[in-house]
Amino acid sequence: MIPLIDLSLDKKTKQTIKAAISKVLESKNYILGARLESFEKKFAEYLGVKYAIGVGNGTDALRLALRVLGVGKGDSVLTVSMTSPFTAIAIIEEGSRPIFCDIDTKTLTLDINDALRKLTRDTKAIIPVHIYGNPANLDRLRLFAKEHNLIIIEDSCQAIGATFKGKKVGTFGNAAAFSFYPTKNLGGIGDGGIMVTNNKKTAKMAKLLRHGGQTKRFWHVHRGFNSRLDEIQAAILEVKLKTIDASNKKRAVISKKYIEDLNGLPLDFQEVLPLAQSANHIFIIRTKNRNGLKKFLHKHGVMSDIYYPFPLHMQPAFNMFYSKLPNTERISKEILALPLHPNLAVKDQDKVIETIKIYFKKNA
Ligand SMILES: *Cc1c(COP(=O)(O)O)cnc(C)c1O
Repeated sequence: MIPLIDLSLDKKTKQTIKAAISKVLESKNYILGARLESFEKKFAEYLGVKYAIGVGNGTDALRLALRVLGVGKGDSVLTVSMTSPFTAIAIIEEGSRPIFCDIDTKTLTLDINDALRKLTRDTKAIIPVHIYGNPANLDRLRLFAKEHNLIIIEDSCQAIGATFKGKKVGTFGNAAAFSFYPTKNLGGIGDGGIMVTNNKKTAKMAKLLRHGGQTKRFWHVHRGFNSRLDEIQAAILEVKLKTIDASNKKRAVISKKYIEDLNGLPLDFQEVLPLAQSANHIFIIRTKNRNGLKKFLHKHGVMSDIYYPFPLHMQPAFNMFYSKLPNTERISKEILALPLHPNLAVKDQDKVIETIKIYFKKNA
């Protein structure tokens, strides 16, 4: 079976990671130490942003950004329904109301025209999601946010390394969230996340709030979170950060080959804006025969999966925020993720492509 993703590491990376973990063990300092400080600095440098604040996971990074930017009770937040459920959970847990917007049928990212229709008086922020690694239209987003006085928090959890007009995503808004969940492009050996910002005050407050809100030991001016990126994860991520560009490059090559080789079949691909570069986190095709194709692939030894099968606005936990989203509902029935990871061998990818071609020949 050709897997959708493969988290195995090469021997050299494994050795380097083991050495990094050993160093943490020897340091006897497991939380808020030198490894985290070092990784935060390197991560901020990589992104081209001033501050990075490591937390327990991507959801907490989103929550921390909302909290520190003053988005909470009584506020509504524009976002998409076609995303990880944790985008909405972060908004709701901070006491705000998510307003689900529809997606652009080409880029599959937030449709600003729909956001404009759904804007309310209490809308305070917008959380675009760079879904599958593909940058949302950040020019239009920034214009829209400026016009309506909205805070921008980029959900960049799937998009480390993606760029828009040559700048990395996560650097365009008031703050951004990244996730180091193992399957993400920059994955830890466990949970992790980071919030980034260019604003000194925002960064300072975020650092206080991730550690309970204490301004000095055991003295709490604020009631914050208990969510930090631990030293072991920071040490591991610092090792993996060194090769993120190389591994994203491999993903880009694989995605490009899919598009070239599947060209001509009754399929649609996610479109990347002309001045953008996707992080190629997930490779998505769209077809009316999605379920049939998925079954056929499975029968012939190819894994595929659906991200995401259930739009959030239709799920019990979120349907009190129901909103009419025709594109989202239609597209969620058409999307299928194909095997994509930096270790995918050409012969395996060729088998995936060949199997898809056979399916469409049979079902023409
Ligand atoms: C992974 C992900 C999250 C949540 O990150 P965790 O680290 O799992 O908390 C949020 N939003 C998006 C778009 C994601 O892909």
